[in-house]
Amino acid sequence: MEVATPISKKLEGKVAIITGGASGIGEATARLFANEGARMVVIADIQDMLGQSVASSIGTHHCTYIHCDVSDENQVKSMVESTVKSYGHLDIMFSNAGTINRNQPLLDLDLSLMDRLFAINVRGMVACVKHAARAMVEGGKGGSIVCTASVAGKRGSDDGMQDYVISKNAVVGLVRTGSCELGKYGIRVNCVSPSALATPLLMEFFGMKDKESAEEAILGNSSLKGTVLKVNHVADAVLFLASNQSAFVTGHDLVVDGGLLCRVGSNK
Ligand code: NAD
Repeated sequence: MEVATPISKKLEGKVAIITGGASGIGEATARLFANEGARMVVIADIQDMLGQSVASSIGTHHCTYIHCDVSDENQVKSMVESTVKSYGHLDIMFSNAGTINRNQPLLDLDLSLMDRLFAINVRGMVACVKHAARAMVEGGKGGSIVCTASVAGKRGSDDGMQDYVISKNAVVGLVRTGSCELGKYGIRVNCVSPSALATPLLMEFFGMKDKESAEEAILGNSSLKGTVLKVNHVADAVLFLASNQSAFVTGHDLVVDGGLLCRVGSNK
């Protein structure tokens, strides 16, 4: 009798934390990681009801929710410690939680709003990288850290998202720095840089209530005509960086933008 070849999954047995996993890119990545055989996906967010409902829809054997405000280092530290205590080790940190402000021109920049944004987008990412890396060093088996930057981190800005653009440039610096320091422990540090996609974060920035209007606004934002970037496209890129398929990739910024950045100077 022919024996069926088992389908190998890319994250078999891995333990992962996903910050900002209650919504958008984080939620799609949590679902994909669980489908790819992750032993446990820990969703960390501040939207407790949403996070709990995402975790239970994925299945409590493979996914759980923890409240963690990434702007508070103590919460990040205890999230990582409780994950290691419950599941034995940490293999993957997807540091993805982020926020955006509207209308922040340099000339009128509200620095207290910027501080709040930096506490999440920069300080929070640094805290997640720091504490995940400490757990991975202690575990002795290396690991993969993926951050969410943005195409906004590859340009300047005069479109109201000045503080956001500065913060995402910093995320790329964090990833490059992390790759230099942590490579000797077998820890890879990379980021994804998506272009605009219709999640609550972008809808809030546009001041739009429905996803369809947001998707209409970003249609044509790439070289791949007639389609828009979706959360699953980004999750696929995160999976590549998180899994052993990218075993020799570190310090890399994987742009997921349908060729948008190549279009500088193109009028068509
Ligand atoms: P989203 O609003 O769907 O998800 C963001 C999640 O982060 C939410 O669940 C939110 O509750 C959580 N979060 C916010 N502050 C937090 C905190 N202090 N602690 C823990 N969790 C917190 O938006 P998204 O688009 O999926 O955003 C995910 C990441 O993608 C962000 O870093 C964002 O900057 C980045 N990004 C988004 C776009 C876009 O156009 N949507 C483009 C490029 C990059």
